[in-house]
Amino acid sequence: MAANPQRDFPEAYELCKKFDISDANMEEIVQRLTKEIKMGLAKDTHPRAVVKCFITYVQDLPTGKERGKYLALDLGGTNFRVLLVTLRSETEIDIESKSYVISHTLMEGPGKNLFDFIAECLSSFCKDYHIEKENLPLGFTFSFPLKQVGINKGIMITWTKGFKCDGVVGKNVVELLQDAINRRGDLKVRIVAILNDTTGTLMSCAFGNRNCRIGLIVGTGSNACYVEKTSNTEMLEGYQTSNKPNMIVNCELGAFGDNGVLDFIRTPYDNAVDKQSINPKRQTLEKCISGMYLGELVRHVVVELMGKGLLFKGLDSQAIHEKWRFQTSYISDIESDPEGSYRQAAMIMDQMGIRTHVEKDLACLRYICQTVSTRSAKLTSCVLACLIQKMNTKDCSVGIDGGVYRYHPHYHNLLVENMNKLLKGSAKFELIVSEDGSGRGAALIAAVSV
Ligand code: ADP
Ligand code: MG
Repeated sequence: MAANPQRDFPEAYELCKKFDISDANMEEIVQRLTKEIKMGLAKDTHPRAVVKCFITYVQDLPTGKERGKYLALDLGGTNFRVLLVTLRSETEIDIESKSYVISHTLMEGPGKNLFDFIAECLSSFCKDYHIEKENLPLGFTFSFPLKQVGINKGIMITWTKGFKCDGVVGKNVVELLQDAINRRGDLKVRIVAILNDTTGTLMSCAFGNRNCRIGLIVGTGSNACYVEKTSNTEMLEGYQTSNKPNMIVNCELGAFGDNGVLDFIRTPYDNAVDKQSINPKRQTLEKCISGMYLGELVRHVVVELMGKGLLFKGLDSQAIHEKWRFQTSYISDIESDPEGSYRQAAMIMDQMGIRTHVEKDLACLRYICQTVSTRSAKLTSCVLACLIQKMNTKDCSVGIDGGVYRYHPHYHNLLVENMNKLLKGSAKFELIVSEDGSGRGAALIAAVSV
């Protein structure tokens, strides 16, 4: 039978209320985010803005006519990838790719080692395809906060998502990669563009869907970009007189709230997760939304309820007390059980060392998961509604990538429901999974920029 949280586990129900965001608060968040975005765009406020709204120097959306052979690198997600993308026709795109694991040692070691490793992977990939001497154009998807000063020049601002390599912040990342390639001397490529995964996602979606105006990531991290009028992008030299009407702006939304403007919706569990993260007090919004953190938020709530004897009474395990052990994918699994069934929930708790078939407890676990994923989706809806209103568009598509959006069973529907609440029919929108923004999108940006 379906659970009634208020009746079946009232204490947990009360605790979960802390995560609820009312309609009025969602609207407040949209207002606050709009203000932060304007601060990021404007020259006089940009230096102290939290939501940086970096200009990407991508001013052309794909026409569908782009053709040719491009290399792409994807750094900043779970895996590092090298790709060879061949644009043959509007519908025929060949992608060859290989993933490489970035070890913890590399993630937290000197930047030089990281870039040497990237160059090594690129070199071995190119040799496999016999293209190491072809001097192919390369698009570098580098999904960390980056201040771009040109299409292929970007200054690293700060690491996020578990990376922390010395000697990179403040440097031009393209040059670091080019130097590493040159040090090897066995490879000829041209790095023609550096981009964020959001930009790649927008471009990849726009190739087949000319109305795409937003790129969104809800994966390990969370971020979005959108198409702004060049006349509003004050950080571009000569923005008033640019002959190109549009500019993709990488909002770096993950940092929204770092100045305290989201404190009114944050919970003690957010604080706990933030404190134990590698980047405390930073990426406030990202830590409420993205895959790197959702499972850990659930784990904190579960542990607190267990400590109070309100959940899995009499049971305990080492695993449930282990930081980061509860995966965000578990949330998707648990919420995928049909209503009234707790098969996957029981299996996952069993993996976590807690063997139980007490339905009330498993229902409570699912309720906690729903609470955390719903808040994530509500916040993402605020982001999308904000960007749609900022662009003043009446009809647009949103290209989306990331494991949370792709695999959570209700995320898409939650987005649609909450965006409708916020937009109240003022704009039409379509949410589309964007195929391989970091690879295909990088190739398209390389194509439109050479
Ligand atoms: P990224 O490129 O940012 O790593 P991905 O699209 O590869 O993003 O998504 C990977 C992230 O998505 C993982 O870090 C994890 O947090 C989350 N994820 C993976 N599988 C699932 C799932 N089944 N449900 C929800 N989130 C998931
Ligand atoms: Mg990715």
